[in-house]
Amino acid sequence: MKKIFLFIFASFTFIQCASVKSQTASSLTLQKTILETPQTTTLNRPKLVVGIVIDQMRYDYLIKFYSKYGENGFKKLMNDGYNLQNVHYNYIPTYTAVGHTSIYTGTTPTNHGIIGNNWYDKFEKKSIYCVDDISYKTVGANKGGEKSPYRMLTTTITDQLKLAQNMNGKTIGISIKDRSAILTAGHTANAAYWFEGGDTGKFITSTFYMNALPIWVNNFNNSGIANSYLEKIWDTYFDINTYTETIADHNIFEEPFKGKKSPSFPYDLAKLRKSNNNYDLLKAVAYGNDFTTDFAKATILGENLGKSEYTDFLSISYSSTDYVGHQFGVDSKEVEDSYIRLDKNIEDLIIFLDTKVGKANYTLFLTADHAAVQVPSYLKTLKIPGGYFDNQKFKVFANNITQTHFNSSELIEDISNNQLFLNKDKIKELHLDILKVEQVLVDELINFENIYKTVSAYTLQSTTFSTGILQTLQNGYNQKFSGDVLFIPNPTTISYAQVGSTHGSGYSYDTHVPLIFYGQGIKKGTSNEYYPIIDIAPTISSLLKIEQPNGTTGKTITEVLE
Ligand code: ZN
Ligand code: ZN
Repeated sequence: MKKIFLFIFASFTFIQCASVKSQTASSLTLQKTILETPQTTTLNRPKLVVGIVIDQMRYDYLIKFYSKYGENGFKKLMNDGYNLQNVHYNYIPTYTAVGHTSIYTGTTPTNHGIIGNNWYDKFEKKSIYCVDDISYKTVGANKGGEKSPYRMLTTTITDQLKLAQNMNGKTIGISIKDRSAILTAGHTANAAYWFEGGDTGKFITSTFYMNALPIWVNNFNNSGIANSYLEKIWDTYFDINTYTETIADHNIFEEPFKGKKSPSFPYDLAKLRKSNNNYDLLKAVAYGNDFTTDFAKATILGENLGKSEYTDFLSISYSSTDYVGHQFGVDSKEVEDSYIRLDKNIEDLIIFLDTKVGKANYTLFLTADHAAVQVPSYLKTLKIPGGYFDNQKFKVFANNITQTHFNSSELIEDISNNQLFLNKDKIKELHLDILKVEQVLVDELINFENIYKTVSAYTLQSTTFSTGILQTLQNGYNQKFSGDVLFIPNPTTISYAQVGSTHGSGYSYDTHVPLIFYGQGIKKGTSNEYYPIIDIAPTISSLLKIEQPNGTTGKTITEVLE
């Protein structure tokens, strides 16, 4: 900054000296004005970027519960920010780790390498968890912190912001879920904090970031706030009779908490705590989002975010909406109440940011890591096709195919995330042609009930799909880590219990999510234009005038930027 200033001052003096004789006073003033406002070199970045990811939020929750929201939460973002109404995930599988990574890297599993929450690692020959890393230790508790983002192969917008500022400015990720905090904060983060439940009940981190928790995190952990939520009764925020957007509270499509027969309000958390693994209960109820908001505010204060000459970045991921959705389903009163309460959390956070960071000093975006399917057993009662995929039966079916065609039932090493991993050693030993094994499985597996598409890794490597569900599958396919035969179940067909909702597919009920930009540098508006989720990172990069993450395949959404 100093150098630019000196240069401008020097040029101005030079021009002034050389041409002073022939110029009038007014043209000199004009020249001075032009030189003293170097528009293109003024950064004018927000002091703080807040990325909010709401775990399992469907786009239609903005609309469905609109009349229940207050004026200053979701509605404020929708009305004063830029609301993109047709944003979708453009890959399979739509899981939490993959979603958060794709938002922050601006690309899909093909490039960033996070192909699931868990997946079968061909090289280690075992199932792995996306952020597990035994080279690091837990900080702040006895367990739960041996984590890092090393499996994510590309950089994030948070990394790029650090690089752009010569490693100045703070980047921090927080969430109840470790993966949601770690993958969004990036490789160069100052910190990622997540909630260790069970009997611990604390926000913790990994030695990947630091060797001891900051005082403000210890103070938060010792404040008794987690316990205070678990002493509450979770009842509906408004009179339950006004919750006309969702099905009956007591229904057969929900999973009750352990220790309570009926899946219906009210929930006495003090009573349920013991039978639901103590602090884990806080994750699974609407108060988990209140608690996350409390911690977000403590982070902003504790780290003085938005107060330095550099831009800081806080990633907040709200996880409890996902736990509630899984347990009670998209159409439940519990989900409705969770969003009505989350709306208050968003309002609380906006007021806090306006006060502590300043209205004009921050930019915020709000989106989700995936959406969710309505409970298939419920949809079946409405005559909508769908059902449940039987993994055990499928495994037997697949092994029978290889037995029949290749006289071996040992050719499939693992089946997970709708992918078959072949046993390459066995195939070699039996002198089989791997392409032939793949193709036979593709041709035969399609006959299994509830399967819509089957495709081989070879096809995905040798064909470029430009539209449709196979393009979505291809975007999620990583040549190095993915399986050898991939399949897609029918719409509304899930590998899950008959109660509750889940996600993971490439169908619109899982891909369609909210995306709202708000604050400094953002226009007011709405749009129905289609955008893939991978456009968020390049848009934030353009806003901040920084390089895009190194694997970015998305594009800047120019209509939202001022
Ligand atoms: Zn999720
Ligand atoms: Zn989930």
